[in-house]
Amino acid sequence: MQKDIRDALNLQVNREYFAMYLYLAMASHFEAENLTGFAKWFALQSAEERGHAEKILRYLLERGERVELEEIAKPPMSWDSPRDAVAAALEHEKKVTGWINEIVDLAIKHNDHATNIFLHWFVEEQVEEESSVEAILDRLEMMGDFKGGLFLMDRELATREA
Ligand code: MG
Repeated sequence: MQKDIRDALNLQVNREYFAMYLYLAMASHFEAENLTGFAKWFALQSAEERGHAEKILRYLLERGERVELEEIAKPPMSWDSPRDAVAAALEHEKKVTGWINEIVDLAIKHNDHATNIFLHWFVEEQVEEESSVEAILDRLEMMGDFKGGLFLMDRELATREA
């Protein structure tokens, strides 16, 4: 594997772990705010991110590469409103999409077909991630300051399955 592809994948492992941390921070924030449905949704999201990190880590090992674990940055721990938190989550997912696309570009540039194909799953996953977070954000914006809407949405998010 080309060094710059290996480095980019190692960096992406760290970014996925940061996303895991960020969503765990959001889950903790919502739990403290008694929005337990939002808390559950973000706790499951956090677990998914851990899965993403480990999927890339496994791929590096399968290709006979060394894994380099770096420090995970401290995430923000509180947000002014549910809308702000969900908007931050969407912004983060858009960044992740950009990073995945950059690594795909790199794989194509170096004719690393295995990495290119491996990353297809992530390209598809990002479409889903952005769409699910965007759907929550759209509805939060629709309900504005209507607290009953927030209550209903919290109950609905609580039904998410692992
Ligand atoms: Mg991810």
